[in-house]
Amino acid sequence: MTINNTISIDIISEKIAEIKLTKSMEKASFMQLSYYLYYLKRMGIEIEGELRYPKEKRMKKVILNEEIEKEIEKTLKEIEKIKNFSSPPVVKKISSKCKKCAYFELCWVGE
Ligand code: SF4
Repeated sequence: MTINNTISIDIISEKIAEIKLTKSMEKASFMQLSYYLYYLKRMGIEIEGELRYPKEKRMKKVILNEEIEKEIEKTLKEIEKIKNFSSPPVVKKISSKCKKCAYFELCWVGE
């Protein structure tokens, strides 16, 4: 389900869930789901999240707290700074994680 053409959630029930193939990018997955919780909270919806790794038969609960919200807000400010650069930052070398990333074809490191 896509909300406000901004966030795309895999599963919504009494909690929201993101399904991931592996835990190789767990921090990024955690921040993605935390952002969804943050976004929904600003819409008046307070809900818990779950990262699900069906291949590994594992899940991790994600609950928004003050520390995570501060990290999201700091990250959003950094994104705004980058958006205002007159030219994009220098491309960093492709990491091993990039090769498995769902955004590889959209990301500039894949060019
Ligand atoms: S391909 Fe781009 S978005 Fe994906 S991990 Fe690499 S740098 Fe990040």
